[in-house]
Amino acid sequence: MTRSGRSFDPTGMPPLPAGPTVDYSLARRASIVALKRGTLATTDVCDAHPELMRAAKNIGEPLDAPCPICSHSTLRKVRYVYGDGLKHNNGRVVYPPEWLKELSGKHDEFTCYAVEVCIDCGWNHLLRADSAGRRFVSDGTPDKQRKRG
Ligand SMILES: [Zn+2]
Repeated sequence: MTRSGRSFDPTGMPPLPAGPTVDYSLARRASIVALKRGTLATTDVCDAHPELMRAAKNIGEPLDAPCPICSHSTLRKVRYVYGDGLKHNNGRVVYPPEWLKELSGKHDEFTCYAVEVCIDCGWNHLLRADSAGRRFVSDGTPDKQRKRG
């Protein structure tokens, strides 16, 4: 997967986020603009990994917005957790959603990636990456940043 957040591969380790939270919405918009300009082909952006597609279809959380590529109401959000300390849970899909809380209580630090997937055309893009675990409070903000206000 490129650092842009396109083409999320759930079987590989994604790029490490640069901070406690990384928002990929700018990169997402850039991908859509590039597609409209013709710099990117539909096949470049609608290439959801079979595993990702399967997770989106079975347990993805429906998103309100239409797909930016095919305009269908077929967008799903899938979350994955990665971290060396997670051991066998490294790279697993967050399901049910409450499982994330359980993991956060058991592990010091890991990263939760939220991916947007269209189960119709295969569009997929990272939405955000959040640090989680005991070192971080439940909203994903480290304690020291929280005190600053
Ligand atoms: Zn679509």
